[in-house]
Amino acid sequence: MTPKRVVIAGAGQGGFQVAASLRQDGFDGEVLLVGDEPGLPYQRPPLSKEYIKTGNADRLLFRNADFFEKNAIRYLDGRRLAAIHRADATVELDDGQVHGFDHLVLALGARNRRLPIAGMELEGVMQLRTLADAERIRTAIAPGLSLVVIGGGFIGLEIAATAAAAGAKVTVLEATDRLMSRVVSPAISAHFLAMHRASGVDIRLGTMARGIRDNGRGRAAAVEIEGGAVDADLVLVSAGIVPNVEIAEAAGLYVQDGIRVNDLMETSAAEISAIGDCASFPFGHDGTLIRLESVQNAIDQAKCVVQRLLGRPEPYDKVPWFWSDQAAFKLQIAGLTAGADHQVARPSDDGAKLTVHCFRHGALIGVETVNAPGDHMMARKLLALATPPTLETVEAAGYDLKAVFAAVSA
Ligand SMILES: Cc1cc2nc3c(=O)[nH]c(=O)nc-3n(C[C@H](O)[C@H](O)[C@H](O)COP(=O)(O)OP(=O)(O)OC[C@H]3O[C@@H](n4cnc5c(N)ncnc54)[C@H](O)[C@@H]3O)c2cc1C
Repeated sequence: MTPKRVVIAGAGQGGFQVAASLRQDGFDGEVLLVGDEPGLPYQRPPLSKEYIKTGNADRLLFRNADFFEKNAIRYLDGRRLAAIHRADATVELDDGQVHGFDHLVLALGARNRRLPIAGMELEGVMQLRTLADAERIRTAIAPGLSLVVIGGGFIGLEIAATAAAAGAKVTVLEATDRLMSRVVSPAISAHFLAMHRASGVDIRLGTMARGIRDNGRGRAAAVEIEGGAVDADLVLVSAGIVPNVEIAEAAGLYVQDGIRVNDLMETSAAEISAIGDCASFPFGHDGTLIRLESVQNAIDQAKCVVQRLLGRPEPYDKVPWFWSDQAAFKLQIAGLTAGADHQVARPSDDGAKLTVHCFRHGALIGVETVNAPGDHMMARKLLALATPPTLETVEAAGYDLKAVFAAVSA
Protein backbone atom coordinates (compact mmCIF):
# COMPACT_ATOMS: atom_id res chain seq x y z
CA MET A 1 0.00 0.00 0.00
CA THR A 2 1.36 3.47 -0.88
CA PRO A 3 2.16 5.38 2.34
CA LYS A 4 0.51 8.75 2.99
CA ARG A 5 3.26 10.31 5.12
CA VAL A 6 6.91 9.83 4.22
CA VAL A 7 9.57 11.16 6.57
CA ILE A 8 13.13 11.36 5.27
CA ALA A 9 15.94 11.78 7.80
CA GLY A 10 19.15 13.23 6.36
CA ALA A 11 18.99 15.91 3.67
CA GLY A 12 22.12 15.12 1.68
CA GLN A 13 22.42 13.47 -1.73
CA GLY A 14 20.18 10.49 -0.99
CA GLY A 15 17.60 12.21 1.22
CA PHE A 16 17.08 15.08 -1.22
CA GLN A 17 16.73 12.61 -4.10
CA VAL A 18 14.00 10.65 -2.30
CA ALA A 19 11.98 13.84 -1.78
CA ALA A 20 12.49 15.04 -5.36
CA SER A 21 11.76 11.65 -6.95
CA LEU A 22 8.62 11.13 -4.85
CA ARG A 23 7.14 14.29 -6.29
CA GLN A 24 8.52 13.77 -9.77
CA ASP A 25 6.96 10.31 -9.89
CA GLY A 26 3.55 11.50 -8.71
CA PHE A 27 3.43 10.88 -4.95
CA ASP A 28 0.72 13.13 -3.52
CA GLY A 29 1.04 12.41 0.20
CA GLU A 30 3.05 14.35 2.80
CA VAL A 31 6.81 14.61 2.46
CA LEU A 32 8.90 15.77 5.41
CA LEU A 33 12.66 16.11 4.92
CA VAL A 34 14.76 16.65 8.06
CA GLY A 35 18.45 17.54 7.96
CA ASP A 36 20.84 18.49 10.73
CA GLU A 37 22.89 20.94 8.65
CA PRO A 38 21.82 24.56 8.27
CA GLY A 39 20.54 25.86 4.93
CA LEU A 40 19.31 24.20 1.76
CA PRO A 41 20.49 20.70 0.75
CA TYR A 42 23.72 20.72 -1.27
CA GLN A 43 26.08 18.38 -3.08
CA ARG A 44 29.38 17.36 -1.49
CA PRO A 45 31.67 16.42 -4.43
CA PRO A 46 32.57 20.03 -5.34
CA LEU A 47 33.62 20.72 -1.73
CA SER A 48 37.02 19.13 -2.34
CA LYS A 49 37.19 20.38 -5.96
CA GLU A 50 35.76 23.68 -7.35
CA TYR A 51 34.53 25.03 -4.03
CA ILE A 52 38.01 25.07 -2.49
CA LYS A 53 39.04 27.28 -5.43
CA THR A 54 35.97 29.48 -5.88
CA GLY A 55 34.08 29.56 -2.57
CA ASN A 56 30.84 29.77 -4.56
CA ALA A 57 28.28 28.07 -2.29
CA ASP A 58 25.24 28.84 -4.49
CA ARG A 59 26.49 26.45 -7.14
CA LEU A 60 26.39 23.60 -4.62
CA LEU A 61 22.63 23.66 -4.02
CA PHE A 62 20.53 20.90 -5.55
CA ARG A 63 17.60 23.31 -5.90
CA ASN A 64 16.61 26.71 -4.54
CA ALA A 65 13.97 27.37 -1.86
CA ASP A 66 11.14 27.69 -4.44
CA PHE A 67 11.53 24.08 -5.43
CA PHE A 68 10.62 22.88 -1.94
CA GLU A 69 7.63 25.17 -1.74
CA LYS A 70 6.32 24.39 -5.23
CA ASN A 71 6.66 20.67 -4.63
CA ALA A 72 5.13 20.73 -1.15
CA ILE A 73 8.25 19.26 0.40
CA ARG A 74 8.36 20.33 4.03
CA TYR A 75 12.02 20.85 4.81
CA LEU A 76 13.32 21.27 8.35
CA ASP A 77 17.00 22.23 8.43
CA GLY A 78 19.29 22.37 11.44
CA ARG A 79 17.25 19.63 13.12
CA ARG A 80 18.58 16.21 14.09
CA LEU A 81 16.63 13.02 14.11
CA ALA A 82 17.09 12.07 17.79
CA ALA A 83 15.08 8.84 18.05
CA ILE A 84 12.80 6.50 16.14
CA HIS A 85 9.81 5.18 18.10
CA ARG A 86 8.70 2.15 16.15
CA ALA A 87 5.83 1.22 18.46
CA ASP A 88 3.84 4.32 17.48
CA ALA A 89 5.61 5.01 14.13
CA THR A 90 6.98 8.41 15.10
CA VAL A 91 10.31 10.18 14.92
CA GLU A 92 11.55 12.54 17.57
CA LEU A 93 13.75 15.48 16.63
CA ASP A 94 16.36 17.12 18.84
CA ASP A 95 14.11 20.17 19.36
CA GLY A 96 11.38 17.95 20.83
CA GLN A 97 9.12 17.85 17.73
CA VAL A 98 7.45 14.51 17.10
CA HIS A 99 6.26 13.48 13.62
CA GLY A 100 4.30 10.42 12.60
CA PHE A 101 5.22 8.42 9.51
CA ASP A 102 3.84 5.64 7.37
CA HIS A 103 7.29 5.22 5.88
CA LEU A 104 10.66 6.44 7.14
CA VAL A 105 13.76 6.70 4.95
CA LEU A 106 17.12 6.91 6.71
CA ALA A 107 19.67 8.76 4.59
CA LEU A 108 21.98 9.71 7.44
CA GLY A 109 25.28 9.48 5.57
CA ALA A 110 28.54 9.12 7.43
CA ARG A 111 31.02 11.11 9.48
CA ASN A 112 34.77 11.40 9.23
CA ARG A 113 36.88 8.83 11.01
CA ARG A 114 38.91 10.44 13.78
CA LEU A 115 42.37 9.01 14.15
CA PRO A 116 43.34 7.67 17.58
CA ILE A 117 46.45 9.86 17.73
CA ALA A 118 47.44 12.75 19.97
CA GLY A 119 46.68 16.27 18.74
CA MET A 120 43.45 15.70 16.77
CA GLU A 121 41.79 18.46 18.83
CA LEU A 122 44.43 21.11 18.03
CA GLU A 123 43.61 24.26 16.13
CA GLY A 124 44.68 23.88 12.51
CA VAL A 125 43.65 20.21 12.34
CA MET A 126 40.74 19.83 9.94
CA GLN A 127 38.53 17.22 8.34
CA LEU A 128 36.23 17.66 5.36
CA ARG A 129 32.65 16.50 5.21
CA THR A 130 30.40 19.55 5.24
CA LEU A 131 30.19 22.95 3.61
CA ALA A 132 31.24 24.50 6.92
CA ASP A 133 34.38 22.29 6.95
CA ALA A 134 35.15 23.24 3.33
CA GLU A 135 34.85 26.93 4.10
CA ARG A 136 37.34 26.60 6.99
CA ILE A 137 39.81 24.77 4.75
CA ARG A 138 39.33 27.15 1.83
CA THR A 139 40.04 30.24 3.91
CA ALA A 140 43.06 28.62 5.56
CA ILE A 141 44.83 27.60 2.33
CA ALA A 142 47.31 30.24 1.17
CA PRO A 143 50.50 30.45 -0.88
CA GLY A 144 53.50 29.29 1.12
CA LEU A 145 51.42 27.54 3.80
CA SER A 146 52.58 24.05 4.82
CA LEU A 147 49.72 21.61 4.48
CA VAL A 148 50.08 18.01 5.64
CA VAL A 149 47.35 15.68 4.39
CA ILE A 150 46.99 12.46 6.37
CA GLY A 151 45.52 9.85 4.02
CA GLY A 152 46.15 9.42 0.29
CA GLY A 153 42.56 8.65 -0.75
CA PHE A 154 40.28 10.53 -3.17
CA ILE A 155 39.42 13.51 -0.97
CA GLY A 156 42.88 13.99 0.52
CA LEU A 157 44.45 13.95 -2.95
CA GLU A 158 41.87 16.29 -4.46
CA ILE A 159 42.64 18.87 -1.79
CA ALA A 160 46.37 18.24 -2.07
CA ALA A 161 46.22 19.02 -5.80
CA THR A 162 44.12 22.16 -5.30
CA ALA A 163 46.30 23.45 -2.45
CA ALA A 164 49.50 22.81 -4.41
CA ALA A 165 48.06 24.72 -7.39
CA ALA A 166 47.29 27.59 -5.00
CA GLY A 167 50.94 27.73 -3.98
CA ALA A 168 50.84 25.76 -0.72
CA LYS A 169 53.66 23.40 0.23
CA VAL A 170 51.86 20.06 0.41
CA THR A 171 52.91 16.75 1.94
CA VAL A 172 50.69 13.66 1.80
CA LEU A 173 51.25 10.86 4.31
CA GLU A 174 49.83 7.54 3.18
CA ALA A 175 50.11 4.51 5.48
CA THR A 176 49.89 1.87 2.72
CA ASP A 177 52.38 1.38 -0.09
CA ARG A 178 50.30 3.13 -2.77
CA LEU A 179 47.73 5.88 -3.27
CA MET A 180 43.98 5.16 -3.18
CA SER A 181 44.92 1.53 -2.49
CA ARG A 182 41.47 0.54 -1.18
CA VAL A 183 39.70 1.38 -4.44
CA VAL A 184 41.99 1.40 -7.50
CA SER A 185 44.51 -0.82 -9.27
CA PRO A 186 48.28 -0.41 -8.82
CA ALA A 187 48.52 1.08 -12.35
CA ILE A 188 46.18 3.93 -11.44
CA SER A 189 47.96 4.48 -8.13
CA ALA A 190 51.29 4.76 -9.96
CA HIS A 191 49.85 7.13 -12.57
CA PHE A 192 48.55 9.52 -9.90
CA LEU A 193 51.70 9.22 -7.80
CA ALA A 194 53.75 10.41 -10.76
CA MET A 195 51.33 13.25 -11.50
CA HIS A 196 51.20 14.55 -7.91
CA ARG A 197 54.96 14.35 -7.51
CA ALA A 198 55.44 16.20 -10.82
CA SER A 199 53.12 18.94 -9.47
CA GLY A 200 55.40 19.36 -6.47
CA VAL A 201 53.39 17.43 -3.89
CA ASP A 202 55.63 15.51 -1.48
CA ILE A 203 54.00 12.08 -1.27
CA ARG A 204 55.29 9.72 1.41
CA LEU A 205 54.04 6.17 1.04
CA GLY A 206 54.19 3.60 3.85
CA THR A 207 54.21 6.50 6.30
CA MET A 208 51.95 6.49 9.31
CA ALA A 209 51.06 9.69 11.19
CA ARG A 210 51.87 8.97 14.84
CA GLY A 211 50.67 12.20 16.41
CA ILE A 212 50.18 15.92 15.83
CA ARG A 213 52.57 18.19 17.69
CA ASP A 214 51.33 21.25 19.58
CA ASN A 215 53.14 24.55 19.01
CA GLY A 216 52.72 25.24 22.72
CA ARG A 217 49.67 27.48 22.16
CA GLY A 218 47.13 24.83 21.18
CA ARG A 219 47.91 24.93 17.46
CA ALA A 220 49.24 22.19 15.19
CA ALA A 221 52.94 22.63 14.38
CA ALA A 222 54.01 19.30 12.88
CA VAL A 223 52.91 15.74 12.20
CA GLU A 224 55.04 13.08 13.85
CA ILE A 225 56.11 10.15 11.73
CA GLU A 226 58.55 7.27 12.28
CA GLY A 227 61.93 8.82 12.96
CA GLY A 228 60.90 12.48 12.67
CA ALA A 229 58.20 15.02 11.95
CA VAL A 230 56.82 17.06 9.04
CA ASP A 231 56.18 20.76 9.75
CA ALA A 232 52.57 21.81 9.29
CA ASP A 233 50.60 25.05 9.47
CA LEU A 234 47.50 23.07 8.58
CA VAL A 235 46.74 19.35 8.91
CA LEU A 236 43.95 17.74 6.92
CA VAL A 237 42.96 14.32 8.26
CA SER A 238 41.29 12.36 5.50
CA ALA A 239 41.22 8.81 6.75
CA GLY A 240 37.86 7.43 5.72
CA ILE A 241 34.37 7.65 7.09
CA VAL A 242 32.14 5.87 9.61
CA PRO A 243 28.45 5.31 8.74
CA ASN A 244 25.83 7.00 10.95
CA VAL A 245 24.05 3.93 12.29
CA GLU A 246 23.59 4.64 15.99
CA ILE A 247 20.00 5.94 15.85
CA ALA A 248 18.93 2.96 13.75
CA GLU A 249 20.69 0.58 16.12
CA ALA A 250 19.02 2.17 19.15
CA ALA A 251 15.67 1.57 17.42
CA GLY A 252 16.49 -2.13 17.14
CA LEU A 253 17.29 -2.18 13.40
CA TYR A 254 19.85 -4.69 12.22
CA VAL A 255 23.24 -3.07 11.67
CA GLN A 256 26.21 -4.75 9.97
CA ASP A 257 28.88 -2.28 8.83
CA GLY A 258 25.96 0.02 7.82
CA ILE A 259 22.23 -0.13 8.42
CA ARG A 260 21.53 -3.52 6.87
CA VAL A 261 19.03 -3.52 3.99
CA ASN A 262 17.86 -6.09 1.46
CA ASP A 263 17.92 -5.59 -2.31
CA LEU A 264 14.82 -3.38 -2.07
CA MET A 265 16.55 -1.12 0.50
CA GLU A 266 14.25 -2.34 3.27
CA THR A 267 15.80 -2.45 6.74
CA SER A 268 14.90 -5.20 9.20
CA ALA A 269 11.69 -3.17 9.81
CA ALA A 270 9.55 -3.07 6.65
CA GLU A 271 8.28 0.47 7.35
CA ILE A 272 11.85 1.84 7.37
CA SER A 273 14.29 2.04 4.43
CA ALA A 274 17.95 3.05 4.47
CA ILE A 275 20.05 4.32 1.57
CA GLY A 276 23.41 5.80 0.62
CA ASP A 277 26.55 5.98 2.73
CA CYS A 278 24.79 4.70 5.87
CA ALA A 279 23.37 1.50 4.32
CA SER A 280 24.95 -1.89 3.70
CA PHE A 281 23.33 -4.01 1.02
CA PRO A 282 23.78 -7.31 -0.89
CA PHE A 283 25.76 -6.88 -4.12
CA GLY A 284 26.23 -9.06 -7.20
CA HIS A 285 25.37 -12.68 -7.86
CA ASP A 286 26.70 -13.91 -4.52
CA GLY A 287 25.03 -11.16 -2.46
CA THR A 288 28.25 -9.99 -0.79
CA LEU A 289 27.42 -7.32 1.77
CA ILE A 290 28.87 -3.95 0.78
CA ARG A 291 28.47 -0.28 1.61
CA LEU A 292 29.29 2.32 -1.05
CA GLU A 293 30.23 5.94 -0.63
CA SER A 294 29.22 7.60 -3.88
CA VAL A 295 26.75 9.96 -5.47
CA GLN A 296 25.57 7.34 -7.97
CA ASN A 297 24.79 4.87 -5.18
CA ALA A 298 22.86 7.42 -3.08
CA ILE A 299 20.80 8.61 -6.07
CA ASP A 300 20.01 5.18 -7.48
CA GLN A 301 19.11 3.73 -4.06
CA ALA A 302 16.82 6.73 -3.44
CA LYS A 303 15.05 6.03 -6.74
CA CYS A 304 14.79 2.33 -5.85
CA VAL A 305 12.99 3.19 -2.58
CA VAL A 306 10.62 5.61 -4.33
CA GLN A 307 9.66 3.02 -6.94
CA ARG A 308 8.87 0.52 -4.18
CA LEU A 309 6.81 3.04 -2.23
CA LEU A 310 4.82 3.73 -5.40
CA GLY A 311 4.06 0.04 -5.84
CA ARG A 312 6.71 -0.78 -8.47
CA PRO A 313 9.38 -2.69 -6.53
CA GLU A 314 12.58 -3.47 -8.47
CA PRO A 315 15.61 -5.07 -6.82
CA TYR A 316 18.63 -2.77 -6.68
CA ASP A 317 21.28 -3.93 -9.16
CA LYS A 318 22.89 -0.80 -10.60
CA VAL A 319 26.48 -0.75 -11.82
CA PRO A 320 28.47 1.28 -9.28
CA TRP A 321 30.52 4.16 -10.67
CA PHE A 322 32.73 6.82 -9.11
CA TRP A 323 34.90 9.73 -10.10
CA SER A 324 37.65 11.88 -8.68
CA ASP A 325 39.17 15.06 -10.15
CA GLN A 326 42.79 15.64 -9.23
CA ALA A 327 44.56 18.51 -11.00
CA ALA A 328 43.96 17.94 -14.73
CA PHE A 329 43.26 14.23 -14.26
CA LYS A 330 39.72 12.88 -14.23
CA LEU A 331 39.60 9.42 -12.75
CA GLN A 332 36.44 7.42 -13.43
CA ILE A 333 35.70 3.93 -12.21
CA ALA A 334 32.91 1.69 -13.48
CA GLY A 335 32.18 -1.41 -11.40
CA LEU A 336 34.02 -2.52 -8.28
CA THR A 337 37.62 -3.25 -9.14
CA ALA A 338 39.03 -4.05 -5.71
CA GLY A 339 38.48 -7.82 -6.03
CA ALA A 340 40.26 -8.15 -9.41
CA ASP A 341 42.68 -11.03 -9.94
CA HIS A 342 43.89 -9.82 -13.37
CA GLN A 343 44.36 -6.26 -14.63
CA VAL A 344 45.41 -4.96 -18.02
CA ALA A 345 46.53 -1.33 -18.24
CA ARG A 346 46.33 0.40 -21.64
CA PRO A 347 47.80 3.91 -21.84
CA SER A 348 47.07 5.95 -24.97
CA ASP A 349 50.01 6.46 -27.34
CA ASP A 350 50.60 10.01 -26.13
CA GLY A 351 50.24 8.96 -22.47
CA ALA A 352 47.38 11.44 -21.95
CA LYS A 353 44.82 8.73 -21.23
CA LEU A 354 44.88 5.46 -19.34
CA THR A 355 42.36 2.63 -19.21
CA VAL A 356 42.71 -0.31 -16.82
CA HIS A 357 40.55 -3.37 -17.48
CA CYS A 358 39.92 -5.41 -14.31
CA PHE A 359 38.88 -9.06 -14.37
CA ARG A 360 37.93 -11.65 -11.80
CA HIS A 361 37.67 -15.36 -12.60
CA GLY A 362 37.93 -14.52 -16.29
CA ALA A 363 35.10 -11.95 -16.41
CA LEU A 364 35.25 -8.16 -16.65
CA ILE A 365 34.29 -6.67 -13.25
CA GLY A 366 35.37 -3.08 -13.69
CA VAL A 367 37.17 -0.48 -15.77
CA GLU A 368 39.22 2.42 -14.45
CA THR A 369 39.96 5.33 -16.75
CA VAL A 370 41.95 8.54 -16.62
CA ASN A 371 40.77 11.30 -18.98
CA ALA A 372 38.92 8.72 -21.10
CA PRO A 373 35.20 9.43 -20.56
CA GLY A 374 34.18 7.49 -23.70
CA ASP A 375 35.72 4.29 -22.33
CA HIS A 376 34.05 4.92 -18.97
CA MET A 377 30.58 5.22 -20.49
CA MET A 378 31.12 2.15 -22.62
CA ALA A 379 32.30 0.19 -19.57
CA ARG A 380 29.12 1.09 -17.70
CA LYS A 381 27.06 -0.31 -20.57
CA LEU A 382 29.11 -3.51 -20.69
CA LEU A 383 28.94 -4.08 -16.94
CA ALA A 384 25.17 -3.64 -16.96
CA LEU A 385 24.75 -6.62 -19.31
CA ALA A 386 23.29 -9.77 -17.74
CA THR A 387 26.57 -11.54 -18.55
CA PRO A 388 29.62 -9.27 -18.52
CA PRO A 389 32.25 -9.89 -21.23
CA THR A 390 34.93 -12.49 -20.67
CA LEU A 391 38.66 -11.90 -20.74
CA GLU A 392 38.83 -13.76 -24.08
CA THR A 393 36.23 -11.46 -25.65
CA VAL A 394 37.98 -8.32 -24.42
CA GLU A 395 41.37 -9.62 -25.60
CA ALA A 396 39.97 -10.59 -28.99
CA ALA A 397 38.61 -7.05 -29.40
CA GLY A 398 42.05 -5.62 -28.64
CA TYR A 399 40.81 -3.97 -25.42
CA ASP A 400 38.72 -1.58 -27.50
CA LEU A 401 35.51 -1.36 -25.45
CA LYS A 402 33.39 -0.22 -28.40
CA ALA A 403 34.50 -3.31 -30.30
CA VAL A 404 33.76 -5.47 -27.24
CA PHE A 405 30.25 -4.01 -27.08
CA ALA A 406 29.73 -4.70 -30.78
CA ALA A 407 30.94 -8.29 -30.30
CA VAL A 408 28.71 -9.07 -27.32
CA SER A 409 25.62 -7.44 -28.77
CA ALA A 410 26.03 -9.03 -32.24
C1 LIG B 1 34.40 16.32 0.11
C2 LIG B 1 33.68 15.18 -0.53
C3 LIG B 1 33.88 14.91 -1.88
C4 LIG B 1 33.21 13.87 -2.50
N1 LIG B 1 33.43 13.63 -3.83
C5 LIG B 1 32.74 12.64 -4.43
C6 LIG B 1 32.90 12.40 -5.83
O1 LIG B 1 33.70 13.06 -6.50
N2 LIG B 1 32.17 11.41 -6.41
C7 LIG B 1 31.27 10.65 -5.69
O2 LIG B 1 30.62 9.78 -6.26
N3 LIG B 1 31.11 10.85 -4.37
C8 LIG B 1 31.82 11.82 -3.72
N4 LIG B 1 31.64 12.03 -2.38
C9 LIG B 1 30.75 11.13 -1.64
C10 LIG B 1 29.30 11.53 -1.79
O3 LIG B 1 29.13 12.91 -1.57
C11 LIG B 1 28.48 10.72 -0.80
O4 LIG B 1 28.66 9.35 -1.09
C12 LIG B 1 27.01 11.09 -0.86
O5 LIG B 1 26.81 12.42 -0.46
C13 LIG B 1 26.20 10.15 0.02
O6 LIG B 1 24.88 10.59 0.12
P1 LIG B 1 24.07 10.30 1.45
O7 LIG B 1 22.73 10.88 1.26
O8 LIG B 1 24.19 8.86 1.82
O9 LIG B 1 24.87 11.09 2.60
P2 LIG B 1 25.14 12.63 2.70
O10 LIG B 1 25.08 13.30 1.40
O11 LIG B 1 26.38 12.74 3.51
O12 LIG B 1 23.91 13.17 3.57
C14 LIG B 1 23.63 12.74 4.88
C15 LIG B 1 23.03 13.91 5.63
O13 LIG B 1 22.42 13.45 6.82
C16 LIG B 1 22.73 14.34 7.86
N5 LIG B 1 22.49 13.66 9.15
C17 LIG B 1 23.28 12.78 9.79
N6 LIG B 1 22.70 12.39 10.95
C18 LIG B 1 21.52 13.05 11.01
C19 LIG B 1 20.46 13.05 11.95
N7 LIG B 1 20.47 12.30 13.06
N8 LIG B 1 19.39 13.84 11.72
C20 LIG B 1 19.31 14.61 10.59
N9 LIG B 1 20.28 14.64 9.67
C21 LIG B 1 21.37 13.85 9.86
C22 LIG B 1 24.18 14.68 7.57
O14 LIG B 1 24.60 15.82 8.28
C23 LIG B 1 24.09 14.91 6.08
O15 LIG B 1 23.68 16.22 5.79
C24 LIG B 1 32.32 13.06 -1.73
C25 LIG B 1 32.11 13.32 -0.37
C26 LIG B 1 32.78 14.37 0.23
C27 LIG B 1 32.57 14.65 1.69
